[in-house]
This record gives sequence, C-alpha cells and structure tokens, in this order.
Amino acid sequence: MSASVTAVPTGTVAFSDEELAELQMVFRGPIYVPGDAGYEDSRAVENLAIDRHPGLIIRCSGEADVIDGVNLAREHGLLLAVRCGGHHVAGHGTVDGGLVLDLRDINGVWVDPANKTVRVQGGATWGQVDREAQVFGLAVPGGVVSTTGVGGLTLGGGIGWLHRKHGLSCDNLISAQVVLASGELVTASADEHPDLFWAIRGGGGNFGVVVDFVFQAHEVGPEVALAAVFHDAAAGAELMPQWRDLALRAGDEVTTRALYWSLPPAPDLPPPVQGKDVFIVAAMYAGDKADGQGIIDEFRNLGDPLFDMSDHLPNYRAFQAGFDPLVTNLYSYWKSTYLDELTDDAIAFIHERAMARPDPSVLIHVPIMGGTTAAVPADATAFGDRSAPFMLSFDGGTYDSGKYDEVRNWVRDTIKEAGRLPGAGGAYLGFSGDDAGDEQVVREQFGGNLERLKAVKAQYDPGNLFRVNNNITPD
Ligand code: FAD
Repeated sequence: MSASVTAVPTGTVAFSDEELAELQMVFRGPIYVPGDAGYEDSRAVENLAIDRHPGLIIRCSGEADVIDGVNLAREHGLLLAVRCGGHHVAGHGTVDGGLVLDLRDINGVWVDPANKTVRVQGGATWGQVDREAQVFGLAVPGGVVSTTGVGGLTLGGGIGWLHRKHGLSCDNLISAQVVLASGELVTASADEHPDLFWAIRGGGGNFGVVVDFVFQAHEVGPEVALAAVFHDAAAGAELMPQWRDLALRAGDEVTTRALYWSLPPAPDLPPPVQGKDVFIVAAMYAGDKADGQGIIDEFRNLGDPLFDMSDHLPNYRAFQAGFDPLVTNLYSYWKSTYLDELTDDAIAFIHERAMARPDPSVLIHVPIMGGTTAAVPADATAFGDRSAPFMLSFDGGTYDSGKYDEVRNWVRDTIKEAGRLPGAGGAYLGFSGDDAGDEQVVREQFGGNLERLKAVKAQYDPGNLFRVNNNITPD
C-alpha cells in the first residue's frame, strides 16, 4: 500500500485532493469520502439509531482491496470498522471519523454438491447463500432472515432454523481465509493456524478480516415442514407453557421459537393479523418433510390461532426471507440472556412485559437452544457456554426516532429484571446493543475461554487494530 493520507491521532482521517487521487489509483473498488455521491448510502447500517460518519469508506472489490485497506488503517493509526451485512445492532460495521472496509460487493458463493460444501466470500448475505445452495437442496445453518451478513453472524456464533440439528453457523465452518492485522493472508482451519480457527468461531471480528469461508452444508428442503402461526398476544400466557413443553420433547430436528410482536396495519398482511398484537409460534423440521409434518402439526395445533401462515411459506428460502420486510428501517436496541430453565414464573414475567411493550415494533424472542449446539463443549470453540436450553431476547425497535430513547430504556430495565430469573445468565453478543460497561458482558459470555482468546488476540492483532466489535483486548 503506497498511498499516503493525513491521519490525526484520534484515528480519524482527512484527505488532500492529492492523497485521494493516489488512493483512487490503488483501490479497484469505489472509495467514498463525506460529500461524495454514494457516501450517504454506504455509511448507513441496518440500525437507524446508528448515525456515524466515517472519514473514508472503501467498497472493497476483492482480497487486494481488503489487504491494502488493512495496511492503510494500520500504517496510519485509523480507527477501522469492517462491514459485511451491516446488521449488528451496536453498529459495529461503521465508525465516526475512521475507515470502513465495506465487504458487501465481495459476495460470491460456490456450492460443491458432491462434497456438500459451500464457499462464501466475506461480504455475502445469507439470502445469497440460500439462493445458491438451495438449488442443490443444501443449506448452511444461518439466521432467520435473509439480509444478515454471513460474516458477522458466523463469527459471532449464528442461531437460526437449523441450530438444533446441525449446530451454530460457526460450528459448520471448515476453513476461512483471513487477512490479519499485518496484512498477511492466512488460512485458518483445524490443520492451519488452529488457534485462529478456534478463535473466529464465536470470537467475532477481533482477529482479522475473513475474505472467504468454507462451510459444511446439509440436505434441507427445498420444501420443509414448518410452522408460522399467529395468535392473539393475550393467549401467550396460556400457550407459552404448552409451547415450552412441546419444544423440549420435539427432538433435535425441530428448532422453534416463540415471539411476542405487533404486526403493522399493512394491507399486504392477512386481514386477521393486520395491526394486531401477536404471540407467534414458529418451528421448522430439519429433515424429510413427510417425517416432520406430524410433530410440526402439533405446533400448528396449539390453541386457536388468528392466522396460520405456514402453508403460505412454501419452502426453506421463503421461510428464511418471509419476515425480511418487517424487520428493517427500525431504530433498534437489543439485549438478551440465556435461561437454564423456562419456568412458569419466567413465562409469567415474559408475558407481563410483552403486554407492556413501549412500541409495537419491540419484539420479544424466545428461541430454544440445545440439540447439536449444546453438544459442542464450551471450550471447543471461542463461543463459550452453550448449555442453556433457552434464550430470551428483547429486540427493541421503533420506526419513530422520537421513541428510541424510551424503547432503549425499556430494554435496559427489562433485561436487568430478566437477569433475576432463575438460571438467567450470559448474553448472545450478536443481539447486543452498545453500552458503556459492555466489557463485563463480553467477559462473562466468553467465560473460561477469555484467557485463550486474549492470547490469540495478542498473537494475531497485538495492536488491537480490529476493535470496533465486542472487543477482546490483547492484554
Ligand atoms: P456487520 O454489522 O456488518 O458486522 C458485525 C461485526 O462482525 C462487526 O464487528 C464486523 O467487523 C464483523 N464482521 C463482519 N463480517 C466480517 C468479516 N468478513 N471479517 C471480519 N469481521 C467481520 N443473529 C443470529 O445469530 N441469528 C439470527 O437469526 C439473527 N437475525 C437477525 C435479524 C436482524 C434483523 C438483525 C438486525 C440481526 C440479526 N442477528 C441474528 C444478529 C446478527 O447475527 C449480528 O448482528 C451479526 O453481527 C450480523 O452480521 P453482519 O455481517 O450483518 O453485521
């Protein structure tokens, strides 16, 4: 990287015309500084509450741009953010003043149907992976919407519709190509840089920029047995204990979640749920549709629903993308905890809080964990303890910027109260809005893995170049 830039000690950057012209010669992808057409669009992330103004955005076109971008940041002391899908609720995909390496244009996906593996470039989204893999009846465990980035979701763990049968996204990683803080490109796998491979499976973007992932894929669908059933929210008090009991005996093929939410009064939604406060029972069987229909029907047959959307979502891709339009354009603040047990008292607490949500777009999300995810020992990957059978997440959201503070404060208060539930502890860092003091949350989540993570960090990123994340410091 030969270009020079004018950096100031805070990690921010400003350019002379000459310096900018030099950068434009070096990078193949477009670069944006404030005022450029394209800058506004590129600085934005999914969470509208995050309003940061980078000094420079490089929309990388390949590994060379990533390597030169990392070198630029290191050589000039720039605060560096790496953006894939831009979905982290804390806005870790952007920065004020510094440099954003935007990976979204590096999004190739190659499927090897014979070996059931999928190679994915570091800026792809799960929708792009599903598009390619489902043609061959394959899927890599991802999340539950199609717009999240493969990068952030995998490096932070990754829970979705397949985690009980096939584990977290990070558990299905076979190898990764990583651009280190030094600018060197290395392979991380069980055989090469095994410590790095261990650390990137749950340790987030702390160790380098992953430009290429190779995943194990599994036979899924395209048609799958699934449940997406909407009840009146008030029925949740009675239905959630039944859902819990069913979820616990349903077997590892079934991943399920219960949710409280409100649907907008949108005319394209089915009339019975337009503008309604709802309790949603959602489930999917990760196996042959005919084998799974019986147990999935038990989820569909709980209570007396307002609307059963299950048959309107004909296949796995439709299920993955079905809720995309409803979870965007929000001012968001999320917090989560794990629960060692989902007691009747815990359910009563969740229901009571659900009926008092400060905004219709606040989502309460209770996924079942366990299965193959829990079978992986806590120290086998950086992710940490996976033993809890349930997660409880308060996904605060509002379309109204004026209500954001109220929503955020409600989530903060509610997660504090949830922390007193029996067996509550830890947090899923992928669902973690930013707070001063979050170092404690990060420490708790990594638990006994933290010391090893710090040692790997000290080896691969001793200067903590990659720190716009749930940061693991090298000391
Ligand atoms: P970004 O904001 O782009 O990145 C997040 C972090 O990862 C940053 O620190 C970034 O530097 C780092 N990073 C990203 N890509 C790379 C890379 N290639 N190399 C190195 N570092 C990288 N999580 C789940 O587990 N399951 C879900 O079903 C799920 N659903 C969600 C739905 C919505 C609407 C939203 C907003 C979030 C959801 N999440 C889910 C949370 C999601 O996993 C995290 O927000 C995740 O970080 C998103 O990844 P991203 O690439 O989109 O984010």
